[in-house]
Amino acid sequence: MDPVGIAAGAGPGAAWQGKCPWGAPNTTSMSCSLADVMSEQLAKELQLEEENAAFPEVVAVAEGPFITGENSDTSSDLMLAQMLQMEFDREYDAQLRREEKKINGDSKVSISFENYRKVHPYDSDSSEDEVDWQDTRHDPYRADKPTTTPRRGFIGKGKDITTKHDEVVCGRKNTARMENFAPEFQVGDGIGMDLKLSNQVFNALKQHAYSEERRSARLHEKKEHSTAEKAVDPKTRLLLYKMVNAGTLETITGCISTGKESVVFHAYGGTSAIEDKVIPAECAIKVFKTTLNEFKNRDKYIKDDYRFKDRFSKLNPRKIIRMWAEKEMHNLTRMQHAGIPCPEVVILKKHVLVMSFIGQDQVPAPKLKDVTLSSEDMKNAYYQVLNMMQQLYKECNLVHADLSEYNMLWHDGKVWLIDVSQSVEPTHPHGLEFLFRDCKNVSQFFQKGGVAEALNERELFNAVSGLNITADNEVDFQEEIEALEKRNEDHVQNHGKKQSMFSSNGDPPIYDE
Ligand code: ADP
Ligand code: MN
Repeated sequence: MDPVGIAAGAGPGAAWQGKCPWGAPNTTSMSCSLADVMSEQLAKELQLEEENAAFPEVVAVAEGPFITGENSDTSSDLMLAQMLQMEFDREYDAQLRREEKKINGDSKVSISFENYRKVHPYDSDSSEDEVDWQDTRHDPYRADKPTTTPRRGFIGKGKDITTKHDEVVCGRKNTARMENFAPEFQVGDGIGMDLKLSNQVFNALKQHAYSEERRSARLHEKKEHSTAEKAVDPKTRLLLYKMVNAGTLETITGCISTGKESVVFHAYGGTSAIEDKVIPAECAIKVFKTTLNEFKNRDKYIKDDYRFKDRFSKLNPRKIIRMWAEKEMHNLTRMQHAGIPCPEVVILKKHVLVMSFIGQDQVPAPKLKDVTLSSEDMKNAYYQVLNMMQQLYKECNLVHADLSEYNMLWHDGKVWLIDVSQSVEPTHPHGLEFLFRDCKNVSQFFQKGGVAEALNERELFNAVSGLNITADNEVDFQEEIEALEKRNEDHVQNHGKKQSMFSSNGDPPIYDE
């Protein structure tokens, strides 16, 4: 059959065409050969193209939408597959749990199916995820210790005595121990066929199983890191996708900023309110990077923060990163209550924080360092910053701890504070040092900017903290600050947190979470 002939045929052919279940053949697309159509390479390329269209790696603001309700719904097989897989995994695990329960019943000795679960505890999205799995659950990556012969080296009595050297017992035990290898490691049904492994064979197998386990962990890590470097990893994309799907966000238009620790996206707010609160028309999405390297040097901010103290040591790295996002949310909320111009929190999901967008029509407000202000505005900005620092300290019981012209935006004739994930309470063991550093940045910026009224860093420090440190040079001043921190730390050790010596009024934080 010659398709070109049919398509070209006018008259009677046209009537026939209307009935053809395949419609009119498209003559223009006939140019590729059968080999092309069948080519896996081509299929892969097309699939990739499609996926890239739905989730470009880093999108400039001007280029079309990043994720919208329409395109992510149908155009990415990958995303669809992931959604389905998630559903499947959850159902599978539920079934597994039922079976586990049925088998164990009321028996005192129970068998755990934990290793066979599809959803890793800290990947799951459910509320039980908020429980620290390391405390409450069996660690799926640590094999149970096999029961061994007691120290005395034998079990049983009289003629039933068996020693740890008994070959048969030992062999069986080795076979049973293989159950402790990683679940993907196929060991076969050794117990069923009463296989007895010699120590030598068992040890060789064990070595192999462990190195396999390590290899697969390495591969997994590589995959995670390479994707997170570029923009966001698949799990984050899935989170973003869900927000669009739920109507929280309308469209994610593109990336505003890629920093070391976070990526910030612009989005248009959706129509479904959250707890009766209308979602802002434009939102900023701050995605805290799940690559761990950059967060190591931030330990000191959170580790000594008493609000997080109890939780810090028990957490896995993923949780620690979520804690940064959580911290930013709490701090922004405190600031909001005090009336400090800052982004308004919309929603927090794991390591993704959605807040109101400072700026307009996808254009973020400029940072203070990038904007040229009239001397009048500059002076205004200075007094605003001074007031904000005082409010932050006294009303929010917070020190910004990364305050500079990089983290202040100029919008609507006002200075807006952003980037408060690292902010701490003044009683943090290094809180006053952080405050002093903030003061240095602020003084320097406004003095260089020609604001004659700008206090120097030491005056600013005293004005904000209400302390009266009299040292007239930086070195002595710094020393006095450290001595004060030290004394407070000792004081807190002896009398408890509420007795802190220099918190604004001795009361607990106003907006205690
Ligand atoms: P980082 O830790 O990467 O410095 P920031 O919170 O400072 O994170 O955000 C990085 C940049 O993203 C900011 O300098 C600012 O330009 C932009 N940005 C962050 N939050 C907002 C927001 N709510 N509205 C507008 N722009 C924002
Ligand atoms: Mn910043």
